[in-house]
Amino acid sequence: MSNLALPILYEILNRQPDVLAERVYAPWVDMEAIMRRRNIPLFSLESRQALKEFNIIGFSLGYELTYTNVLNILDLAQIPLFSSSRGDSHPLIIAGGSCALNPEPLADFIDLFVIGEGEEIILELLEVFREYRRDKKTLLKQSARLAGIYVPSFYCVDYNKDGSINSILPQIAEAKPKINRRIVTRLPFPVTSPIVPYIEVVHDRGSVEIQRGCTRGCRFCQAGIIYRPVRERPHKDVVTAAGELLKNCGYSEISLLSLSSGDYSDIDKLITRLSQQFYGDNLTFSFPSLRMDSSVIKLLDLLPARRRPTLTFAPEAGSEKLRRIINKGISEETILNTLAFVLDKGWTKIKLYFMIGLPGETLEDIYSIVELMTKIRRLGGKIRLHISVSILVPKPHTPCQWLAQETEEQLLPKYAILKKELSRLKAGFSWADPKTSQLEAALSRGDRRLGQVIHYAWQTGCKFDAWNEYFDYHKWLDAFQQFGLHPSFYANRERALDETLSWSHIDTGVNLEFLQREYHNMWQEKETPDCRYGKCHACGLNDGQAKKCPMAS
Ligand code: SF4
Repeated sequence: MSNLALPILYEILNRQPDVLAERVYAPWVDMEAIMRRRNIPLFSLESRQALKEFNIIGFSLGYELTYTNVLNILDLAQIPLFSSSRGDSHPLIIAGGSCALNPEPLADFIDLFVIGEGEEIILELLEVFREYRRDKKTLLKQSARLAGIYVPSFYCVDYNKDGSINSILPQIAEAKPKINRRIVTRLPFPVTSPIVPYIEVVHDRGSVEIQRGCTRGCRFCQAGIIYRPVRERPHKDVVTAAGELLKNCGYSEISLLSLSSGDYSDIDKLITRLSQQFYGDNLTFSFPSLRMDSSVIKLLDLLPARRRPTLTFAPEAGSEKLRRIINKGISEETILNTLAFVLDKGWTKIKLYFMIGLPGETLEDIYSIVELMTKIRRLGGKIRLHISVSILVPKPHTPCQWLAQETEEQLLPKYAILKKELSRLKAGFSWADPKTSQLEAALSRGDRRLGQVIHYAWQTGCKFDAWNEYFDYHKWLDAFQQFGLHPSFYANRERALDETLSWSHIDTGVNLEFLQREYHNMWQEKETPDCRYGKCHACGLNDGQAKKCPMAS
């Protein structure tokens, strides 16, 4: 319910006179047990129709550790898992979302992937569906012609002896050698009558997307690449949408969504306008992500004084050197000044995100996280600090995509330092499990051979892998080994800059030259400033023909 894409597509589809779009989620294990015992096929939430009666089933893939749930959902719906086993009478299985930018690990199960933003292409796909629905082969061929559609069964993957990819080539004329990410030039008007859940959900509030895309250029960040360019929603549309959400859903909190809210033009004026407009409605506004710089000071100053929830910031690294490497352009001085300001304003609960396993990281850099925390403690006040540490997953389509993820053996001593030193500083500490992160890296960087691994893992009981209590690394390891593979081949192997990657045929619009340039800049600790405030870095979104970036001249 917290996925913003679903209500948008749900509304676009249901606005069509001949379409009925409904929701389904993976049932929790207790419900699944009952459904299997009583042979109840999985059904939609709205009308309780069996999934297998629908024409199309679409998955939103936001996290690789839900892949076994995709299989489980299909199985519970009594639909054959492999696309090769499904005929004309079975639903068309489609998938989109950020993970679809490397679709290969799920290639065996999904009939077609939507690459990029779905608002326009979903209607084009529907047109094709209306015409060819009775003949799946033709339907897939015609769909493959559409920009942004990838039909994996039309492509052949050839491997080198060492297991790397030699080529991924289309086998029919309709399939394109490169699949271009779809990008909408204008943001569609926000959904203002979303379904309001009657149980508590994650992010239980209204939301208005104020801006899509971020060009800050953090080198580890996939979202910063795959949602480019920046597109802003006009102030007046944000205000109108907030009013409609309040009227239609009765929310008391509205989240102003963006990858980097402080970068939205005249955000202070927008907040002032919203506060004036909804004065007396008891409506509060929140931001999902705040940078540690002067923009946050401007924003927090405008928020009503009565609420002081936990403030979350992401310095990402303790040392200036590492922050330069990842292009997180904030200095220690800015971090300390920002925190001094928020403490002064009465905020006491602070959560800080760091990442370890960054390129060029040494134990000294780990100690610099501790030093930074010590300085924050010295700022005084009754500050409740929590530090959350994740592990770099070198994601596809980022300048980090060629890096090897650090191994558990490399990471554990770093965790040991942090655990010891942070308890001394009386800071809460949570950390990502190296095995889970390795699997995430393997699945996100994986190739088509992982289909059989995912299938085997699911058969042996893996599901809800993103939930600690269900994650079973040994089952996964066994699944890889069954097929002569190992997660480290995908996660912990450095790639050559000219290697064909399993996502090389997916074109985000950001070109290889830019990513390679950024890779070199990374090792030279060279900053690449945000193109929004300076010169265009020719990332590829403007290739002279398709001017997709409003910011480039
Ligand atoms: S085309 Fe230029 S201005 Fe636009 S996102 Fe890319 S680098 Fe930035």
